[in-house]
Amino acid sequence: MRHFTLVGVCFLMLSCNSIENKSPKAVLVIHGGAGWISRGSFSDSLEKAYSNRMKESLLKGRTILLNGGSSLDAVQTAIEYLEDSPLFNAGKGAVFTHDETIEMDSSIMDGATKKAGAATGIKTIKNPIQVARAVLDHSDHVFLSGDGAEEFAISQGLTQVDPSYFFTQNNFDILQEAIKTMKKEAKTKLGTVGAVALDQNGNLAAGTSTGGMTNKRYGRIGDSPVIGAGTYAENKVCGISATGHGEFFIRNVVAYDIAARMKYANQSLDEASSEVIDYLKEKGGLGGVIGLDSEGNVSMPFNTIGMFRGYISLDGEPVIAMYKD
Ligand code: ASP
Repeated sequence: MRHFTLVGVCFLMLSCNSIENKSPKAVLVIHGGAGWISRGSFSDSLEKAYSNRMKESLLKGRTILLNGGSSLDAVQTAIEYLEDSPLFNAGKGAVFTHDETIEMDSSIMDGATKKAGAATGIKTIKNPIQVARAVLDHSDHVFLSGDGAEEFAISQGLTQVDPSYFFTQNNFDILQEAIKTMKKEAKTKLGTVGAVALDQNGNLAAGTSTGGMTNKRYGRIGDSPVIGAGTYAENKVCGISATGHGEFFIRNVVAYDIAARMKYANQSLDEASSEVIDYLKEKGGLGGVIGLDSEGNVSMPFNTIGMFRGYISLDGEPVIAMYKD
């Protein structure tokens, strides 16, 4: 019965706006994309599959933190696990461009050092978040693209796969439907993934990985790999990962705007992120963010019908939500 799924139970106990406010100090927050996620639009088994995957992602990331690992490692681990699932629009489940190709974007940022790594136009690397991490750890740069990014990833020993690995019938059908109906891209995509973590040394990190938007023009880059737009982390302030209509998130420098409001206007994480997401809605920009501040407070506002999201504390159960109410 739907009401006894994990998600259902969460919503019986907590309303959407209060789950973040009542969270015990969280150490890891994730999202799996925002969009047309409404109650009843998924079968019970699919809802459970999303919920279980997110729950497991949180547990895997938390294990790293419990063992004294870094927030960067927790973010990477949580994202990799979501990338390996066809359910989300990242890695295995990345959506198609108009030309039926796959072009993935990723980024990761270390709040302690403000070092960052990002990659765009990834076509054959199994886990794009690993490319971003390798750029952060092993290059003098922040952002690599296309062939250069892939060549660098291979030189770092990352796993390369045949492009057919990324084929999923569901995403292919969604593309055909989008082309046929000339639907706005924003209505057809779903499932970008992201994570923000706070480790035992008080270091924040954030990361995001995506296939972009269904039916996008080849070469189009969204907000997910753009530091300050889709991803940002700064110790003592916050970590943010965004999902939604990337063009709006880039123009509004969403992730950094939230951090700047906290730094310069003394807003709380929840005030800052909710105001930014409300403003985006006024401008027609659909999506949401997840955020974690240095105290472990969580905020997960969105202006779409739903957003796959969840958080976990050091000793509590994973909390997962999808819908608005
Ligand atoms: N923000 C991503 C992009 O514009 C898509 C998404 O989050 O769904 O590429």
